[in-house]
Amino acid sequence: MIAVQSSASLRPYNTFGIETFAERLIHIRTPEEAQKALERFGPPSYILGGGSNVLLTQPLEGTTWLTRIGGIAVGEANERSVVVAAGSGVVWNDLVQWAVQRQLGGIENLVLIPGTVGAAPIQNIGAYGVELKDAFVRLEALHLPTGQYHVFWPEDCRFGYRDSFFKREGRGQYLILRVWLRLRKKGYRPNVAYRALANWLVEKGIHAPTIAQVAHAVAAIRTSKLPDPAMWGNAGSFFKNPILLQEAVAALKEQYPTMPSWPAGHSMVKIPAGWLIEQCGWKGRREGPVGCHERQALVIVNYGGATGAQVWAFAQKVRASVQEHFGVELEPEVQVW
Ligand SMILES: Cc1cc2nc3c(=O)[nH]c(=O)nc-3n(C[C@H](O)[C@H](O)[C@H](O)COP(=O)(O)OP(=O)(O)OC[C@H]3O[C@@H](n4cnc5c(N)ncnc54)[C@H](O)[C@@H]3O)c2cc1C
Repeated sequence: MIAVQSSASLRPYNTFGIETFAERLIHIRTPEEAQKALERFGPPSYILGGGSNVLLTQPLEGTTWLTRIGGIAVGEANERSVVVAAGSGVVWNDLVQWAVQRQLGGIENLVLIPGTVGAAPIQNIGAYGVELKDAFVRLEALHLPTGQYHVFWPEDCRFGYRDSFFKREGRGQYLILRVWLRLRKKGYRPNVAYRALANWLVEKGIHAPTIAQVAHAVAAIRTSKLPDPAMWGNAGSFFKNPILLQEAVAALKEQYPTMPSWPAGHSMVKIPAGWLIEQCGWKGRREGPVGCHERQALVIVNYGGATGAQVWAFAQKVRASVQEHFGVELEPEVQVW
């Protein structure tokens, strides 16, 4: 039996802590429950995992599905690697901890990213020099308009920087059920190329870090920089880091020589959105219940009682001011609904 809640508050289900309602809310705990919900109510109007990458600006009409499909299983293995399958409702950080405890490498840099396994491919989560795509093997999804199962291989997912097929053409079309990742065993060396991570390890005198040491280092850096959504409602980075043509960045650097940047391939250069926002004077600035965090300007915070519309209006002001000052358009990383 699937349990259906009417007029359910979504406040516990989004890390911004926005109070809004779902007309009908269903916890999907197995693929069979998803099929049943589909037969009974038709495709969901919205799918929520951990609600850590969404800004809800209105009540959700129709049926909202909460993905709670569990289970971690070990599949094909050889001396050097193992393929692990995880249900889409598994908490992402639980999967990372599971891997770290077993000394399986490849996702330790993604420790403490909030949310679920099923949402990880949606924006190809990334942090500290590693992205989901680096370990991704395949996923299984339910096509909502037809009720058919589909397998997506890496090339089908069209992963990009905080981007995939599921954020574009496939948006709202599929429920991701299960994700397979290849984790490394023998001969694996953690990726510590990211500067802040490398510096942290050197400062601690760690020169050949283990998987657990890298996870610990990333966790320590993250908790020192990012506000805990349990205390201050937020969804992490609100905007993506803009990627511009080399020439455009060179022109900006003439005016702003201290602007940080790093190569993004194909003659493109990435610049930190947080720096641009900070230069416009938004770091630590608050307007009513909404503001930019005092340590990380890229994180927009609900300091208590903000509506989704208020957060969105604030974000648009920040975006307009960066556009006016630098001529650079910021694209939200958060899914605004
Ligand atoms: C403090 C903080 C720090 C963060 N740091 C990072 C970071 O370092 N790197 C990073 O990449 N992200 C980061 N994020 C963003 C967020 O954690 C990730 O995007 C995460 O993958 C979202 O997972 P979720 O389950 O909460 O997804 P939700 O927010 O619930 O959903 C996100 C989108 O995916 C869709 N969706 C969710 N589950 C499914 C499914 N099973 N099938 C189909 N569609 C689905 C939703 O409809 C929605 O469009 C951070 C967020 C916070 C709050």
